[in-house]
Amino acid sequence: MHEVGIASSILEAAHSETARRPGAKLIGIGVRIGVLSGVDIDALRFAFECITAETEDEKVVLTTEKCPRVNRCEDCGHEFSSSHLSPFTDAPCPRCHCERTKFVSGDQLDIAFVEVEEP
Ligand SMILES: [Zn+2]
Repeated sequence: MHEVGIASSILEAAHSETARRPGAKLIGIGVRIGVLSGVDIDALRFAFECITAETEDEKVVLTTEKCPRVNRCEDCGHEFSSSHLSPFTDAPCPRCHCERTKFVSGDQLDIAFVEVEEP
């Protein structure tokens, strides 16, 4: 289950962010997960609970935001989300109906925010 590895790197990154503010305590982490990242959000949340259980991070709240696949049209430059389509098929542009669209995002795994409690 590679979600455990992902959960620990998220936690680690949040801790180094928290460490920049002396005395601050980590209380929440928000992550953005693209539908194409291959990350199972439920498994990730479960993994996060497991690795923080009975540690100082037990109360840290993990917020996950699922991001759709976004394509950009090569003809008119319109960017659109194609979450209503299978993430693995090509999507025509909804504005000009051109078929030449390019995948621009949807495979991200980013930390959106780190929430800390200041002393
Ligand atoms: Zn277009």
